[in-house]
Amino acid sequence: MINQSSPIAANWAQIQERIARAAERCGRRADEITVVAVSKTHPAEAIVAAYEAGLRHFGENRVQEWESKQPKVADLDATWHLIGHLQSNKARRAAHLFRRVDSLDDLALAKKLHAAADAEGKCLPVLIEGRLGDEETKSGVAEPDLFSLATSIAPFAHLELAGLMTIPPFFDEPERVRPYFRKLRELRDDLSRRLGRALPVLSMGMSHDFEVAIEEGATEIRVGTALFGPRGSAA
Ligand SMILES: *Cc1c(COP(=O)(O)O)cnc(C)c1O
Repeated sequence: MINQSSPIAANWAQIQERIARAAERCGRRADEITVVAVSKTHPAEAIVAAYEAGLRHFGENRVQEWESKQPKVADLDATWHLIGHLQSNKARRAAHLFRRVDSLDDLALAKKLHAAADAEGKCLPVLIEGRLGDEETKSGVAEPDLFSLATSIAPFAHLELAGLMTIPPFFDEPERVRPYFRKLRELRDDLSRRLGRALPVLSMGMSHDFEVAIEEGATEIRVGTALFGPRGSAA
């Protein structure tokens, strides 16, 4: 049963309103936009509360943290995303524990994920994480290397490139991040043309700037704080 008095349910209602307004401004439908609830640092109970409120996609950024929470939510019918940097020695566990890897940033890692997905007899959807800022952000693939990574993984039968993700530099003023979101969409469109296939997913926008991301074409937004409250406090 949905507990309407839970703060997570109330936060979710506000997020849905923000999405609806942003979608309306740019002539999109709110239901085109998938919300990935970023549950890192929050306990399994928070995931259950969000699930009961209606969330069906969850993002975690550490394999080990997810391993400890996953048994408590294993019966929920949700899609589990890895959204954080993955070390290749954890590729096998990640391929087992997650439904999608949103932070692929390296060919050696792709090879390991592919081998692990093959061993599991599954096809693992992935997003390539693009690095659009210069020094500000550390993770992700620099723009000139995106095409070559995408081309290299194209023949991997057990990986499916579904689109691109980015974590832009942080600005207090969300409007300043717009060029990064626009750039990711342009890169996706260009990559899709060059590969000759659709890349439907654009994962961009977080708690404080997802409206701008939606206006620039995000199909998925990753929302932590606005849903679960601040990290590192009793949420
Ligand atoms: C933590 C995190 C988020 C969520 O950020 P909020 O500002 O709390 O919404 C989104 N994406 C990634 C990759 C993250 O690590």
